[in-house]
Amino acid sequence: MQFERDPRKTKFYNSKAWRRLAKHYASSKGYICEQCRNKYAKSDIKPFYKQFHVHHKIELTAENIDNPDIALNESNLMLLCQHCHNVVTTQKEVLAPGLEFDEKGMVRKIWVKEEKQSRRS
Ligand SMILES: [Zn+2]
Repeated sequence: MQFERDPRKTKFYNSKAWRRLAKHYASSKGYICEQCRNKYAKSDIKPFYKQFHVHHKIELTAENIDNPDIALNESNLMLLCQHCHNVVTTQKEVLAPGLEFDEKGMVRKIWVKEEKQSRRS
């Protein structure tokens, strides 16, 4: 089973503990990408902070997600802008249903071929 689809991961990212930590961590870094120092951050995206991701250096797995020393440890975190986050996590992160990464690491919609309804006669 792919952990990417594990509901525990969704539950973790929606937890108060994670949200509080991620917010605290991001503001403690001043919303400056630790990878590119905001070279790739786009100041025209509003609100500005929305394009940042708090990334786990040691990727969360079914084995470690319940371990706060990994899942909720600031030394395992990294603040990344949208661009750098995509590069670092290509193909690995959870995406909302219907979304996928393209070859450049950008999010795109999965094109679903719709069943054509029979023509009206
Ligand atoms: Zn960056």
